[in-house]
Amino acid sequence: MIERLDAYMARANAAYYATHDPFADFTTSPEISQVFGEILGLWAAVTWQLLESPTPVMLVEAGPGRGTLMADALRAVSRAMPAFQAALTVHFIETSPRLRLEQAARVPDAVWHDDLSSVPAGPMILLANEFLDALPIRQFVRRADGWMERFVRDGGFEEGGWGEEENIKSDLPEGTIREINEPAITFVRTLAARVAQHPGAALFLDYGPEHSGYGDSLQALAGGKPADPLRPPGTADLTAHVDFAALAAAALVAGASVHGPVAQGLFLAELGLFQRTNRLARGLSPARAAAAMDAARRLGEPDRMGRLFKALAVGSAGCPALPGFRA
Ligand code: SAH
Repeated sequence: MIERLDAYMARANAAYYATHDPFADFTTSPEISQVFGEILGLWAAVTWQLLESPTPVMLVEAGPGRGTLMADALRAVSRAMPAFQAALTVHFIETSPRLRLEQAARVPDAVWHDDLSSVPAGPMILLANEFLDALPIRQFVRRADGWMERFVRDGGFEEGGWGEEENIKSDLPEGTIREINEPAITFVRTLAARVAQHPGAALFLDYGPEHSGYGDSLQALAGGKPADPLRPPGTADLTAHVDFAALAAAALVAGASVHGPVAQGLFLAELGLFQRTNRLARGLSPARAAAAMDAARRLGEPDRMGRLFKALAVGSAGCPALPGFRA
């Protein structure tokens, strides 16, 4: 069988998420510190107010994992802004049946969707942490007379077809790799079109460079360790860097306002990561307080997750600067 890389990646990840507990293999921000989800909940609440409190409103999460982020967010919202809590219904976009069960244990009242298309039209605030990086990419390799696309056959790469002649520099060295994440761009573009119709905003946190670049960012994790992305399919979690510049451009073209990207560390610090963690730590034993502070530093410090991870928001046209993006 020969498959385009995106088809292979979609099949491998669907098998992986259906059969594994992904969180045995990697740890995400909401699983590192409860303050992460709390801050995102408060971000949603303040953004809702900036949008002039449309009621009712959907609080949507794409790729909610274990449901931890949403549970932490709702707890913070219920304390800080009961009016937002009263106005909202929770919607989850999730394909894995196994993870849906975990999400239902933490957020029983949610409504589940396979993709954005069945989420009803209307005002919405969407959150997505490490969702776009799991969507399938295509790769093209620069060769002497053009771009070749990478296909997967029998656990190896094969170059075939003629890649689309994109509008990019032709003086790149042979072997240069260019990636494109079409589902991520489509997702952001569709969302941007929705918030152009109804008041809304979406916040994406993920890892990737600020400017589009070249290179192979496909990576696999199995058992917590880097693995060969090409075999066997379904035994490893496959991800790739998110091209924030391409997503921002797609959202602008679709008529939305774009905020960021900014480094996750700056975004979370501006929204009070360290103050909230300090307050939380005061009620804990010394050992647990130290662990909470270290968790916050892991999310925020530049040489840990603070710089590689970025925050990007997309909002209704003309909406004011959103929290965390007021540089
Ligand atoms: N946001 C969570 C989980 C990140 S893992 C966290 O931060 O912990 C990626 C999540 O996206 C998982 O829930 C996975 O099942 C889901 N996912 C992956 N591909 C998807 C797709 N095409 N459609 C919907 N959900 C998807």
